[in-house]
Amino acid sequence: MKAKTIKPTKVNVVTLGCSKNTFDSEVLMAQLKANNIAVEHEATGGDHNVVVINTCGFIENAKQESIDTILAYAEAKDRGLVEKVYVTGCLSQRYAPELKDGIPQVDAWFGTRDLPRLLKTLKADYKHELVGERLLTTPVHYAYFKISEGCDRKCSFCAIPLMRGNHISTPMDDLVKSAQHLAANGTKELILIAQDLTYYGLDIYKKRNLHELVAKLSDVEGIDWIRLHYAFPSGFPMEILDVMKERSNICNYLDMPLQHGSTNMLKRMRRGITQEKTEALVDTIRQKVPGIAIRTTLIAGFPGETQADHEDNLRWIERMRFDRLGAFTYSHEEDTHAFGMEDDVPAEVKQERATEIMELQGGISFELNRAKVGRTVRVLVDKAEAGQYYARTEHDSPEVDNDVLIPTSAGHLRIGDFAEVRITEAREHELVAVPV
Ligand code: SF4
Repeated sequence: MKAKTIKPTKVNVVTLGCSKNTFDSEVLMAQLKANNIAVEHEATGGDHNVVVINTCGFIENAKQESIDTILAYAEAKDRGLVEKVYVTGCLSQRYAPELKDGIPQVDAWFGTRDLPRLLKTLKADYKHELVGERLLTTPVHYAYFKISEGCDRKCSFCAIPLMRGNHISTPMDDLVKSAQHLAANGTKELILIAQDLTYYGLDIYKKRNLHELVAKLSDVEGIDWIRLHYAFPSGFPMEILDVMKERSNICNYLDMPLQHGSTNMLKRMRRGITQEKTEALVDTIRQKVPGIAIRTTLIAGFPGETQADHEDNLRWIERMRFDRLGAFTYSHEEDTHAFGMEDDVPAEVKQERATEIMELQGGISFELNRAKVGRTVRVLVDKAEAGQYYARTEHDSPEVDNDVLIPTSAGHLRIGDFAEVRITEAREHELVAVPV
């Protein structure tokens, strides 16, 4: 018998996983609001009667967190605290058939491209005219800006294409309209995200034209910072570097997950690039955009990774001196190409290698930070907490990179505004500064 849907009094949207999920939740919330349905984000108490959980299904830990969250709301439903629980996002896309029987309290499961159906279930209509409009869950001065969905790459460890589907670029005009809307509402920083940012345009414009899009976004009045995340190394569109150099409101910052430094591992990961070519690419980027900060992400413990591969990786990290680096332990994901390989690196060795990478990077980061002491830099002030302002330079993305800490006693700064500060102290992953 079909579950009876109800008219929500208030919807609580819960977001797990990455910034792309944050973006999708914000789109959902704007649609609900436009349908005069009250909505809140990650409310703990309150009067909501419906919960929508936007899940992550990327790797083991993230999947477990999503399942635990669903179970918590299933229990809340059993206790009569909420009337309806709906699940959407990557975990639902990938595992709904398996999870349905185990968690009957969930009223309906939706995929990653199911927004119209989800809205219908919530007694709301999908409003096309709202293209790009969102209810931000971040501070209004910065916003994640998804420029495409899905991915056509075949990286052997990655389950994302299974959950997000093939690559679809968002039309440039819609993106420019969305950026204008955000800027009109006070957003100063656009953080461009995708599964593969550098693939932009290949589907709908039959050419890579991230550079054209970024130039148009850079022309949007009120946008002071544009930040690029999730670039892919092989087939990297060099034209974007010229636009970065020409335009002062494009941050000298590039996030480019490289996953590993050993050619042997890059081959097994099906990354389509070698250690030598990666080094040449990074050198070219640094020559073309002097002072650029490069962030990367690496995987430790991929099937077949020998101690020699790991040491080759460590030597490579030492040579590359990335400004920002994150490391994850490999997660053996079914239905990926790597799932056919033996997951032969023990969990504790995976963890040891990831720790060793981050310890090495900690030293590099401290040296790079120490060289900045005495400099005056421009920062964007994100928040004030416990007697300090938390701010970021153009080399720092929210939540993943360094903070600039400024004592509130050193002078008044406005949240959401830019400020000039002088660096007085360096730490491994933080800088301390005073306003000038
Ligand atoms: S580029 Fe590779 S790692 Fe990134 S989402 Fe696509 S398949 Fe996954």
